[in-house]
Amino acid sequence: AVMLLGGALGALGALGWINFNRRDQSLMARLSRALNRQEVTLLYQPVVNVRDGKIVGAEALVRWQSNGDFVPPDVFTAIAEQKGMAGRISRYVFDRMIDEMAETLRLHEGFRITINIVAADLSDPKFFAALEDGLHHAGLTPHQIGIELTERSTADSTAAIEGIARLRARGHVVYIDDFGTGYSSLAYLGQLNVNVLKMDRAFTRTVGTDAVTVSIVPQIIDVAIKHNLDIVVEGIETEAQAEYFRNLPVPVMGQGWYYGKPVPAAKLIKLLEQQDGIVSSKRGPRKGLH
Ligand code: C2E
Ligand code: MG
Ligand code: MG
Ligand code: MG
Repeated sequence: AVMLLGGALGALGALGWINFNRRDQSLMARLSRALNRQEVTLLYQPVVNVRDGKIVGAEALVRWQSNGDFVPPDVFTAIAEQKGMAGRISRYVFDRMIDEMAETLRLHEGFRITINIVAADLSDPKFFAALEDGLHHAGLTPHQIGIELTERSTADSTAAIEGIARLRARGHVVYIDDFGTGYSSLAYLGQLNVNVLKMDRAFTRTVGTDAVTVSIVPQIIDVAIKHNLDIVVEGIETEAQAEYFRNLPVPVMGQGWYYGKPVPAAKLIKLLEQQDGIVSSKRGPRKGLH
């Protein structure tokens, strides 16, 4: 009886797996069509200097509605990664970002946009070729394009370390994303040789609430300073959090709902124009021209 039950459970489990796999398969087929039809879109979330709140960059975040339903990006990018399709998303996002933002990047020398990629891109010649072509055609320099990789995706991988070195040799700025949630030790950062550490919002969330976790925040900041990395604090949602990071002895960048949610390209451009003191032409004469 026990064996029968075990067998039945096994069969059910296998059936569940097949269904799950089929569901993923059809999701990827729909994603593939959506990419071909340019139905996948991007939003941009401002990254600010927390000391003065000025926008210094933005992160491109992918958005996809399948049959009217919003599919969370972390979900479909993870499945795409398993199915070997993530590289297509990375190249699509990069190309579309260049289409939408090249002009703005040319106008704002100090402004930088980051894209999220996966570990497999780091050893994919097609990815590197796409970066080079895109920048060349848009007349842009690589230092305005940041490449975000999660700490998890780089863990203990020589291929990742080499890929990061290659990106940096080409002049890109490399970010380690969601830092603090992966498996790697703080010491591993030295080997990775990235430019910017993005502290995961799990730590930001506890600022001002949980004394134990708050004590980790200064440690992460210290380690970033020790390795000569810039810092982006993710998920700043409240004034109290903003104040905490504003008052750190080192200037850090911040990203979060407190400063701005992800917005379409046109809206981001408007925000930058407002910051420059240029009023959108629809609303009257441009300041600075008169
Ligand atoms: P991520 O790269 O860490 O992106 C930051 C996520 O945090 C975004 O979620 C953003 O909307 C969200 N966020 C920003 N500020 C706040 C805040 O103050 N509070 C809260 N609760 N959330 C905030 P999103 O856009 O849903 O993306 C989720 C994840 O999906 C990303 O995490 C990234 O891992 C992945 N992803 C998004 N776009 C892409 C892409 O183009 N390619 C790849 N490979 N992955 C992507
Ligand atoms: Mg990211
Ligand atoms: Mg992140
Ligand atoms: Mg994340």
